[in-house]
Amino acid sequence: MLPLCVRVIIRDWLNANHIVLIGRQRTVLIDSGYGRDTAQTLSKVDAVLAGRPLDWLVNTHCHSDHMGGNAAVRNARRCRVSIPRDEAPLIDAWDEQALWLSYADQRCERFSFDDTVAPGDEFDWGDLNWCAIAAPGHDMAALMFFCEETGVLISGDALWENGFGILLPGPDRNARLAATRATLENIARLPVRTVIPGHGQPFTDVGAALERSLQRLAAFERDELRMVRHVLKVMFVFSLMDRRRLAVDELDGYLESVPLYADFNRQYLQLDRTALADLIVGDLERSGAVHRLDGFLIAT
Ligand SMILES: [Zn+2]
Repeated sequence: MLPLCVRVIIRDWLNANHIVLIGRQRTVLIDSGYGRDTAQTLSKVDAVLAGRPLDWLVNTHCHSDHMGGNAAVRNARRCRVSIPRDEAPLIDAWDEQALWLSYADQRCERFSFDDTVAPGDEFDWGDLNWCAIAAPGHDMAALMFFCEETGVLISGDALWENGFGILLPGPDRNARLAATRATLENIARLPVRTVIPGHGQPFTDVGAALERSLQRLAAFERDELRMVRHVLKVMFVFSLMDRRRLAVDELDGYLESVPLYADFNRQYLQLDRTALADLIVGDLERSGAVHRLDGFLIAT
């Protein structure tokens, strides 16, 4: 299904997948996972490289589960680091709100990069030709990488087998929704045979995945509050996995202390603390994503 020089390291949540491209001239790693798990990331990448040095780290986009290992990988392997061109101002400023870091109770060690990648740039990675393609929506600065001769698309969080990365509501909502639709339609026009997503297994039924994503998108287009609820729940589960557990009696205080929940509640929901906790955690418990054990909330 995938050429031998394209190796995928599937991770579970918190860490995005790593794609390792092994060529005669150089080795390239796409996305570095979450910072907490960097030791594991390095050993997994080293195992795939089998003695070759890592020359280059490139990010599909700058969220903590894709760039969290950048600082450690760069320090440990002295490799070149490239990020999408339009992420550079956020990384230079280390904008913790725009990058969804402390604003959403996520962590990432600050890193420096060597250069940027722009849509239309072409690369020889793994002895194949890859083209960077703009993939705005979930992250307006995101890129995908497409290899036409093999039909392989490295999609980041722009397209998964079941959906795509969260879309933030707010003043840019319509632009985000339109960009997401344009990105999905752009993928549909490409001769893609295999998608390597940022999360989950590679898949080949691209048409069915696009159909599911377009249906999800249409539901978000109809209902902004659905976007709000979805973002709050996804962010909460992410942080719960990062913290490993949260005391039930600390939940209200936690939701008040993380700016994302306080801001979204003020702007869209205007719920009291009990109702907000029930909206986020109650729903997650009912769906089985979160459970209680000895007074703690734990992601299932
Ligand atoms: Zn993302």
